[in-house]
Amino acid sequence: MSTLEKYKICPSCGEKNPPTVFECRNCEADLTRVRVVGPETERGAYTLVSVDRDYSYTLDAPEIVVGREAEMKEYLSAKPFVSRQHMKVSVVGPEIYIENLSATNKTFVNNTAVADGSPTRILEGDEIGLGGKIVDGARQAGAAYFVLEACP
Ligand SMILES: [Zn+2]
Repeated sequence: MSTLEKYKICPSCGEKNPPTVFECRNCEADLTRVRVVGPETERGAYTLVSVDRDYSYTLDAPEIVVGREAEMKEYLSAKPFVSRQHMKVSVVGPEIYIENLSATNKTFVNNTAVADGSPTRILEGDEIGLGGKIVDGARQAGAAYFVLEACP
């Protein structure tokens, strides 16, 4: 496998940078802590970690449906604001997309609701809220919140 096919994806703007750079060539963000990824590291490279750090789920399949009666149910079954099938996660190469499947409760990325019917790309460090967002600085007990992180 050629090293030309590996890159660092900027967490700020999504730019694919050469693996050797320490600063994004598009927006100059710091890339020193960003891992080098490539097509061969596509699945299993990222985890969703609950903000309370009690639970994590490795994104190791091309499509993952998440909800109280789907994947991650061992954590989500105690969260009444989360739907039975709440969100679809797609792993496309090294890129992660999410789609809201809940008709009643929304899915949020960094406190903004994702548009229905269109996959939204998420980046390392983004916070995903299932069934709730942050209101007056507080997270809602009935909702679930995760951060996208690279696998250690
Ligand atoms: Zn950038």
